[in-house]
Order: sequence, then structure tokens, then C-alpha cells
Amino acid sequence: MRLKCGAAKAKINPPEEVGDTYIAGYLTMMAPKIKDIHDSLFARVIVLSEGNNKIALVSLELIGLFADVIEKVKDRLSAYGFPYKNVYIFSTHTHAGPDTMGLWGPIIGKSGINKKYMIFLIDTIIQLVLEAEKKLEEVDVYFSKSELPELIENYRINAMVNGSLKFVKFLSNDKLIASLWSYTAQPEITTRENLSISGDYPGLVSRMIEENYGGTSLFALGLCGAQSPIYCEQGYDKMEIFAKEIFSKIKLIYDNHKKINISPIEIRFRKIKLKLENPDFQLLYTLGIFDREYENEKIVSSVSKVRIGDLDLINIPGEPFPDLLSDILNKQKDIETIIFSNSNDSLGYFIPLNRWSLKPQVWVDYIENGKFIGHETESIGVEAGQIIRKTIKDLFIYKTVLAIGPHADDLTIWAGGTLKKLSSEGNELICIRITDDYADCVGLTKEKGIKRNRKEVEKAYRTLGAKEIIHLDYPTDTLSTADYHELRGKLVRLMRKYKPNLVVSFDLNGTDEENMDHIITARAVNEACWQSSFDLFYTEHFEEGLEIHTVGERYLFARNPTVLNFYVDISDYIEDKINAINHQKTVMENWFHQNKLLARANNLYVELLEEDVPNAIRVTLLVKLVYGEMGEKYGVKYAEEFNRIDAGMLKDLAEE
Ligand SMILES: [Zn+2]
Repeated sequence: MRLKCGAAKAKINPPEEVGDTYIAGYLTMMAPKIKDIHDSLFARVIVLSEGNNKIALVSLELIGLFADVIEKVKDRLSAYGFPYKNVYIFSTHTHAGPDTMGLWGPIIGKSGINKKYMIFLIDTIIQLVLEAEKKLEEVDVYFSKSELPELIENYRINAMVNGSLKFVKFLSNDKLIASLWSYTAQPEITTRENLSISGDYPGLVSRMIEENYGGTSLFALGLCGAQSPIYCEQGYDKMEIFAKEIFSKIKLIYDNHKKINISPIEIRFRKIKLKLENPDFQLLYTLGIFDREYENEKIVSSVSKVRIGDLDLINIPGEPFPDLLSDILNKQKDIETIIFSNSNDSLGYFIPLNRWSLKPQVWVDYIENGKFIGHETESIGVEAGQIIRKTIKDLFIYKTVLAIGPHADDLTIWAGGTLKKLSSEGNELICIRITDDYADCVGLTKEKGIKRNRKEVEKAYRTLGAKEIIHLDYPTDTLSTADYHELRGKLVRLMRKYKPNLVVSFDLNGTDEENMDHIITARAVNEACWQSSFDLFYTEHFEEGLEIHTVGERYLFARNPTVLNFYVDISDYIEDKINAINHQKTVMENWFHQNKLLARANNLYVELLEEDVPNAIRVTLLVKLVYGEMGEKYGVKYAEEFNRIDAGMLKDLAEE
């Protein structure tokens, strides 16, 4: 499938009719009003689409936006078919625009947000996304990069400057539709006294790119925490020089590009909760200047990663110090990465544990010519950085998943949403069905039952994203009399062959299980998970050239689970789960039929089980009801829950 791209841009200077706006300068609170325009602020949008998957990237020349404002944009875009997790709104962090966060009010304790401006801004973003979507055309993607550390000072560790300059082109037959560039210096060249609107250096450079090469050019602020331009607060003349230097570097690397492979777009989205430790920020909540989602002293935000072939776009809800993430990023050998700081949220600095200073009250280092070093006072806390780091690390882990069920419907019903989520996020899914489901049908012969169920389960597992489907074809509901040693051996062999990091299957910790196939499966799978790493078990596998394998973790489900310690938010995958189950017509027909017989046997009449209610409707109703209730427990729309088994107590002994 080809990747399509469309772009659009518009000015977002505060229009006259919104009235006065306060400048989001370098000192928060008691801010002056904006006087005039030096260079206009822009919103720029790229829409990418592949099949029916579409993504919006929105770069704003503003100080930042909190997640609650971004949610409003996402709400409205969802009506146009953009899922929440597919919208990325990031700010360039210019200090020469209007207050869009509430921190630059006219007096202490009063928000500086102009509500009319925010309505104008949100409307403009929506219009731009729709405009860009109308202009979609097929593109090829090219990537260039260079280093430009000489324009940056790192105020915390002089010797360690990250000067990454990255440039992505979206070309349609050699015509530049759009570009995306990133650099790691905070836009801080306007002076402290400045009252004019300016996009700072990123605004100038984006315009130089657009004037010279065409297209719309989006800027993403890279790993910028503690990194200032060498002309920090020196004004417009120096800004011009700075921008020209960056642009001439871009010209140098413009043609020295490599083509990016475009495999399916993959999105990994993680909701995170960050502990608010900073007393200044707590006060802002108390004052009502912050009125965003806040649960048990934790701020709810998100981190996400968009993978386009071998290019990863990483969205971070604030400004990370370079060494919070650079070692993780450097390990991604075959992947190019671009960081979007202040994306989908603006929560200040994320500081590595070993850089966290115990004296956050120190704002300025007088020995170092009065440079700002009080990043801790603009951070929500030390724990937040650790959570960002851990989440980013997790976003780069790709797993092989082996899902094992005795019957066609076990995996779709108990874990369908989770399996679809795992495969959509680029993990490899292999499904194993142990029996042939010959009896799971109504009014069919055994042979027809086997044939139909096999065909339908193939469709169902493909819907879940399975790369491979294996049928062990034991006669259904006979596992209790099957050769256990042999069954377990087959599973050990498949584990040694496919080397899963994660196994999804039945749990032994369920009660009142009447189905022996489920019980035997739970026993055999869980035993096989550790037996596959013993070198004296099933040694015949080694003669085939296989090796021992150790399974990392297991997600286990049961009819009446007694251990539940893990849930997966499947809100975005509920329709896939329903579709997969609906492919299994024969099995579901029998399921409803059997339940009707049970109702009759108890003198009950259940409308839903009557013949004239289509299966698809019954499945949708039941799945949404059951998994909606599970979701409610965890504060998400739909969830599946599991007994998760991993390294257990070894985690406490392990070091990073
Ligand atoms: Zn079953």
C-alpha cells in the first residue's frame, strides 16, 4: 500500500476581535500584553494516510498546550475519522506568542489564557487538518540528518550537547509536498523585554525551507531540556544569523538523503500517570489555573510512537533532557527517530535521576554568568522523568506472541482485543488451535463442522492480525483422554520453534471450569512454557536443529479467574474483537443455541437468544456489555483482564 500525504498551514496570530493577549515570555505571571507582530505565528499540518489509517501531525508556533485543550481538538477530529491516538499536536515552544497555558496572567493567581483565542486556535487546527486531508497524494519519504552542536549550549553539563538536526521530505514525483525538521535548541532568542509576536528561530527556518523548496515545513523540538541557543535572549538580529546557519546546514544535507521504507503505519500509544511533586504546580491546581485531569495527585498524560517503515516519531508530553533518552535511542540501530517535545501536552522538563539537583530553589548560576539552571522548578518532579524513560523503553520492545487455545472461540472471546492490539503495534502474532471443533455446530455433520470451523477460525485469527495459524486437530472435547506427554511435547516444540516472548492462553487459577479441554490446555501450555528451556526434556527437538527457549511472560485468562493482576485497554480494538468473533458463525450459532436450551430447561424466555435475532447483534451487545464492565473497573471504555506471569521477584533483584 502506498503512503499518501497532504499538508496545510495558516497564521495563528491572535486576531484583533479576540482582544488583548498576554505574552508567554521567560518569566511567568504578571505578564505584559502583546504589542505587535515581528514575524507571524503559524500552525502547520501534515496528514498521512495508508489505506483507511490516517494520522494528523500538527506543529504550532506557540509556547505549549495542555492535554485538556488537545483533547478538545481530538474530540472534534474523531468525528472526521481520526482516532485519538492518531492525532499529534506539538508546540515549538516560542516565548514570543500568546499565553496558551495560563501561566502568564496579568496578576498572580489569574490565568493569562484568552478564551476567544483558544476557540479561534482550535477551529483553525480542525480546518487545517481537513484541508490537508483533501490534498492527499502518493508520496515517497526521505530522511537526512546531521549534527550542529556548535549552536547550542547545555546549561547543565557543558561538555554534553546534543546537536541533532533531522530532516524528512515527503515527495510526490520530486515535488516537495511537506517536510518535517527537528533541532534541539530551545527557541529562546527573543529578548526578555520583547513584546512582539515571533516564531523565534524555528519560524524563520521553516519559512526559509518553504520559500526555497516549497511545501509546508513542520518543526519538531527535539531533546531540548537544558539546551539553549548560543544567542539566548539576544534578539532578532542574532535570531536571523542563527536561522541562516541552520538553513545552510539543511541545504547541505537536503539531497544527501536515504529513502525510508514505508511498511504499514504502526502506532503505540501509552496513557501515563505522573506524580505531581512540584509545590508550585500544586498551587496552580489549587488556584484553578490548571483544571485538567488529575487523579490521586497524578497528572494523566500520554507518550506515543508512530512508526512509518523505518522511521519512528516519538511524542513526549514535555521537554526531556537529552541524556534521559539518548542511550535508548542510540540502541535503535535500524530505525531513525525524531523526537516531538511538548507533544499532546506540555508538562515542563523531564530530568534524569542522576541530574536531579537537590537544590531546585537555585534559579541562576552566578558563576556561569547568570545562566538559568532551575529546571527542577519547571518540572513536575523527579519521578515523572523516570516514568517517561521507562515508557519510551517499552515502546521499542517488539514481541513474538504465541496465543494458544483449544477451541476456535477461546482466543477471540477472552483475548481478542489484546491480541489485535499487540499485532497492530507491530508484534508478531502466531495462533495455535489445539482441537478441530468438530462438535461445535448445530445440525451439521462432523465433517462439515470441522471444515466450516477451520475456515471461520482462519478468518477470525487473520482479523486479529495473526501471521501464522497452526491447527493441532485433536478431536474436540477429548483432550482429557489424549496422550498428555505428547500434547505437551508438541507445545514445547512450537515454543522452541517460534521463540515467543509472550504466551497468551488459559489459566490454571480458574474455578468451576467444566470444560476439560480448557483445563488440559492450561496445564500443558503453562508447563510447556518452562519445560521448553530444559535441555533434557524432549531432546528429539534438538536433533531437528531447535534450541531451548525461555518464555518471558504470560497473559492468562480463565472462566472464573481467581487471580487478576493485569488489564489491557482494548477501547480502540473492540470492533476488531467483535468482527473476529462474528467470523466464527458456526461456533457462535451453537453457543446461542446451547444457551437457549439452558434457558428453556429453566423455564426462562430470553429474547436475545431467539432465532430471529441476528448473531452479529447478539455478539456486539454481549461483548460490549462484558468488556465494558471490565473497562469500568480500570477507568477505560473496554478492557480485557489477565493473570500476568513474568519474572516475578527477579524484578526486585534486577538493575537497570
Ligand atoms: Zn473453549
